[in-house]
Amino acid sequence: MVLAGLGPVPAQASPPAVLQSLAASADLAANVLQPPDAVRAGTARTVQTTANLNLRSTPSASGKKLATMPKGTRLSVSATKSGWSQVRYAGKTGWASSTYLRKVAKAIRAGELGKTTARPTLRQKPNTTSKALATVPKSGIYTVKEISGGYARITSRSKTGWIQGKYLSIVAKKPGREIYIDQKYTSNRAGLTDRYWTKVSGGDLYESVNGKKRIGDIPRNSVVYRDGKMEKTAGSVKGWIFVRTQGMSGWMKTSQLARTSTAPTAPGKYSAKQVRAQKNGKIPERMLVAIAWDKEKTLIAAPALKDLNRLNAAFKKKFGHNLDIDLAYRTRATQDEYWEELGPYVAARPGTSNHGWGTAIDVPETYGYSFRGKYYKWLKANSKKYNWVHRKILEEGSPYAEAWHFEYTGR
Ligand SMILES: [Zn+2]
Repeated sequence: MVLAGLGPVPAQASPPAVLQSLAASADLAANVLQPPDAVRAGTARTVQTTANLNLRSTPSASGKKLATMPKGTRLSVSATKSGWSQVRYAGKTGWASSTYLRKVAKAIRAGELGKTTARPTLRQKPNTTSKALATVPKSGIYTVKEISGGYARITSRSKTGWIQGKYLSIVAKKPGREIYIDQKYTSNRAGLTDRYWTKVSGGDLYESVNGKKRIGDIPRNSVVYRDGKMEKTAGSVKGWIFVRTQGMSGWMKTSQLARTSTAPTAPGKYSAKQVRAQKNGKIPERMLVAIAWDKEKTLIAAPALKDLNRLNAAFKKKFGHNLDIDLAYRTRATQDEYWEELGPYVAARPGTSNHGWGTAIDVPETYGYSFRGKYYKWLKANSKKYNWVHRKILEEGSPYAEAWHFEYTGR
């Protein structure tokens, strides 16, 4: 039954029920109002028939009928012409009325990048009843590790679990785009070997190459690690590299980076009191020194170095290797971004963190440094002899629990 020539019908996704029941197939033609999500000219995508629909030899209701495609048939549109879409069905290429074709969102697949369109619940298993682990932020970009029954396995803020795949829109490759690193925040270096130091004061870390948002203010002689894998995922841009630094990630200009550190490694003449009198996160470069025995030459407040060297010597005597340092000094711009990303239980309120004076260190979040680990236990018992303390509020069981954060208490 041919329905063409009935004139305009109201905008809706499928034909009126009465017509649908009369029609073995529908192919209302060119001049009808199209539903908002109908296929439009210039698009090429996957669609689904919203009614039993005729496949015709020409983009016209008078074209020869080649086949009838059942409602719900998935098709790929190769061309469009005045309200008609060219599709291939049952070995035949022909035309179908675009009015009865609805765009189908392509389901995300493993290995693709997805952006959250809502705040889905991260669950332990790919179903609605398993344990809820966290709420995933909206607009975060995640790599889909696996798909199972409409669920996607992702890692969000160190937690791996499943969210409903329908909450992820596929992120197309766009060189230099914003990338959300869905891995641990404080370990910058896992699997990364290409190391640089910033050679300018206040190196700029950007959210994306084209975007305007500056998310970090990296002091001179800070280490950054290039993440080539993420660059490849996003699409690389000449003159820029994607780095992880200071627990953050973003894009930096290669012109701001060098292969070596030029920071002094002698404590210098400043007192801790002088350093603490500076604006948090904005202490002058001359008050910062590099930790010589640390492979990343991490920057720390000059007056805290002597005692840290003593602490490290004792640590090394006990365990046969140097203390591992993840982070020490952190600038204000970076703290602000951290606060926004992680919130009060993980990040200190900007302007209050001892990292902002270079008088705190973070050791890694590895087992040895965890509450049950041998390094933590030793540090907890011994570090105070060297004017470095792990505060009570950070102990296991506290909502602020952090095994890795130690502060300098010297003057
Ligand atoms: Zn810390």
